[in-house]
Amino acid sequence: MVRTFVELIEQKKSGGELSEEEISWWIDGLVSGSIPDYQTSAMLMAIYFRGMNAHETSCLTHCISTSGDVIDFSSLSGVKCDKHSSGGVADTVSIPLIAIAASCGAVMPKMSGRGLGHSGGTIDKLESIPGFDVNLTPLVFAEIVNRLGGAIMAQTGDVAVADKKLYALRDVTATVDSMPLIASSIMGKKLASGADVIILDVKWGSGAFMTGKSEAVELAKTMVGIGEDNGKTTVAYVTDMNEPLGNAVGNALEIVEAVQVLKGRGPAKLIDVILTLCDEILMQSKIVQKREDARTMAMNAIASGDALQRFADIVKAQGGDPAFIDRPEVLPQAAVRLPVCAPRSGFVTSIDAKGIGLAAMHLGAGRQTKEDVIDLAVGLVLDVKTGDAMIAGHQIATVYARTEGDARTCEQEILRAIVIGQAPVPRWQTIVAKISRADGVVTYEHS
Ligand code: URA
Ligand code: CA
Repeated sequence: MVRTFVELIEQKKSGGELSEEEISWWIDGLVSGSIPDYQTSAMLMAIYFRGMNAHETSCLTHCISTSGDVIDFSSLSGVKCDKHSSGGVADTVSIPLIAIAASCGAVMPKMSGRGLGHSGGTIDKLESIPGFDVNLTPLVFAEIVNRLGGAIMAQTGDVAVADKKLYALRDVTATVDSMPLIASSIMGKKLASGADVIILDVKWGSGAFMTGKSEAVELAKTMVGIGEDNGKTTVAYVTDMNEPLGNAVGNALEIVEAVQVLKGRGPAKLIDVILTLCDEILMQSKIVQKREDARTMAMNAIASGDALQRFADIVKAQGGDPAFIDRPEVLPQAAVRLPVCAPRSGFVTSIDAKGIGLAAMHLGAGRQTKEDVIDLAVGLVLDVKTGDAMIAGHQIATVYARTEGDARTCEQEILRAIVIGQAPVPRWQTIVAKISRADGVVTYEHS
């Protein structure tokens, strides 16, 4: 029986299931160009409204993961771990996490992307370090990972090419926020990335893709199912993105914050996420048997300076000058620094994470389109979190800008993002749930 793609769209539109062969026909056709973008767009909208069951989502993920290059990490010894965040503001987790976990014996080969929109990319942050080379050959990358336990390079080649096409079409057809489409997009890339263990940080809240907590848990369950079905140990944490995670937003500024974390002085909320993910990496790598031992090991690595030294070693191995660790002024510096002060006394009722991310992007710290050139020096640092008391006139943030005008605009955006009320409000719980195949969904009580 010869069928046409329009019949497949009809099948999904009327609530039917797509078979493995049918999904593979679609994705092959999308990549080769034999199925035109307007038909894929219609299929995406049908999936948006009708959803996909677990089997269909798994098949779609598999097709995406094999649609381009698949990274081969077989030259690396040990259990290879990868960490992925679903995207947040002041999300300076990856860099300190890799240094801490590597110094405890984990293997962390990280291929990362550049940032787009209001969330920053690890590769952009690292490029603010003088000399740091993010474009390593596979041979050099493997040598550094085998010697130091971690390295970070820009994604090369054409990994998951179907995802690039699908994402571009989703972006212009209002079909980004679909659970099976997000899950298959993230996991399609992760399955092609060569790691044995995948640790997911799924953000929930106003600054995240998933604005509801239960939606984020659902997305995490779906992704854990996909990873495990494809032979990868996959554990997800649902964490808060109702306010920025750390204090710094901006590339060089986030490198400074990463160093503070490694010196044991970073923001508590950021450290909480980093250590929770590190516990999981050390457990899944079988470096420790008990979670308490993982935590002790990581805290010792920070206290002894081993984690910071490991970061310096990785920076040096990738051509960078580690001088910034003790002299942050060698990193790109903004011409204008503007303190932002509380306009009145009260309590921080909310901090709009997305608004803060956009404020930094408008300064030039992030890209609105893929072609934008970013300014590594600019950004902002917040001094408050939701629930804090504020006194009129006291400093609540600092803007780092190119011009006085940019700084004043950013100040207004920050003051709009930070809502001040008269009554105290509870703090956001940082770690909300853990999702794994072994234990299902474990939620954490507010302490
Ligand atoms: N991140 C991705 O890579 N894909 C999505 O669809 C959403 C977030
Ligand atoms: Ca990120």
